[in-house]
Amino acid sequence: MDIIPLLRQHAGDYRCPICRRSLADCRMRQLARRGSQYTIEVTCRKCTLAFVVALEVQGGDTGEAASVARAGEDLPPITTDDLLEVHRALVGYHGSLTALLEPDRGRDS
Ligand SMILES: [Zn+2]
Repeated sequence: MDIIPLLRQHAGDYRCPICRRSLADCRMRQLARRGSQYTIEVTCRKCTLAFVVALEVQGGDTGEAASVARAGEDLPPITTDDLLEVHRALVGYHGSLTALLEPDRGRDS
């Protein structure tokens, strides 16, 4: 199953945590797949912020599969380099962490 087109359908529901632009036209690259678990790199086209999304697809190849973002216990441990990347990406960001992680649904902007 190619997960990218499925994610693309929903990318417009989310905004870049840094520049707030819609992620509808973001770049997506599959980094890894283990069974129904996918690791996808998402890059904002405006500010080039890149972040990694781990998700598990349920429901097989129906095309209507519900994707559930989660911190996978089978993922490799977070390294110091990972933290440095996040730190660099968030320089200048002054919002809350939860605002950073939540999709921007039902919000006027
Ligand atoms: Zn951005």
